[in-house]
Amino acid sequence: MHELSIAQSIFETVLQEKEKSRLPAIEKIGLRIGAMSGILADSLEFSFDAIKIDTELAETNLEIEIVPLKGCCQSCRQEFKVENYAFFCPHCESGRIEVMQGMDMEIAYLEVED
Ligand SMILES: [Zn+2]
Repeated sequence: MHELSIAQSIFETVLQEKEKSRLPAIEKIGLRIGAMSGILADSLEFSFDAIKIDTELAETNLEIEIVPLKGCCQSCRQEFKVENYAFFCPHCESGRIEVMQGMDMEIAYLEVED
């Protein structure tokens, strides 16, 4: 994955939000990264730290939460955690799985200075 471009896009999104909502200094950006999103948290943090130097977000840190991969069986409708890339239902062994979470990344919250 291209952590640098993802970090860049987080940076721009948050900066826009800060200006639009006239937020005070942002201390933390809460990120939720899917276990199967292909995004490396360390690499993303490293990229973000490089981008933020000498900007309005110089003091802002990322708080990353890894979201486990969750699937829903299309045959028996049960939800379960997908482990070790085993894409079949642990209840009925169907392979018809819909991925519910864990494939993408989102900005969960912004923590601003009091
Ligand atoms: Zn099932």
